[in-house]
Amino acid sequence: MPREITRKAVTSILRSTFHGGGEPTLAWNIMKRTVDYFRESAMIRGLTPLVHTATNGVIPQDNLNWIIENLTCANISLDGLPEIQNVQRPTATGGPSFDAVKATMCAMDAKKFSYGVRATVTKQSVTEMGKFTSYLADNFSCLQNRTVAKIDYCQNCFCKYHCAGDCLTRATDGVHLTNILDTARCRINQDLTQDQIIQNLTDVS
Ligand code: SF4
Repeated sequence: MPREITRKAVTSILRSTFHGGGEPTLAWNIMKRTVDYFRESAMIRGLTPLVHTATNGVIPQDNLNWIIENLTCANISLDGLPEIQNVQRPTATGGPSFDAVKATMCAMDAKKFSYGVRATVTKQSVTEMGKFTSYLADNFSCLQNRTVAKIDYCQNCFCKYHCAGDCLTRATDGVHLTNILDTARCRINQDLTQDQIIQNLTDVS
């Protein structure tokens, strides 16, 4: 695609992200009103609204249905298999959260709603990440297309196995991963990764 056409496509997008300061879906009425206002404002200006949210994935069914209908993409915090997730991310009452998050992901899969999984990896969980990623790949169809090996844009990037295409999903709608030529976030990530590599090599030598 010629660069000018790509630029035009990119600038016709208006993005809003709910993130930080706790679970965004807990401020449910504010979230709904904000999304409605944002979408209306974008459309008045002829822009395509993209709305992302971070979430812990423990979401009442009615709210989940609304998210699937009205948002573009979600990033779900899931730290590992039950023995990890239930310890690191218990529910507000101290109960296990794994099954509720799994149900949310299954519902999103069923509706082909785009989502990613973000795991906080600790010393205790790092050795379990292989099993966890195999579990995700085997059980959640939406995640199977999101490996960095399937993103053309990332193939020549030296830090692709560090980033795993994450920058790109932030710079697009999370679905059409090839409709963009360049992102500032990629350049920052590449610079930071390069600095880390040089620092590690310096420490070793
Ligand atoms: S930094 Fe950009 S190009 Fe590199 S792997 Fe991440 S998304 Fe892909």
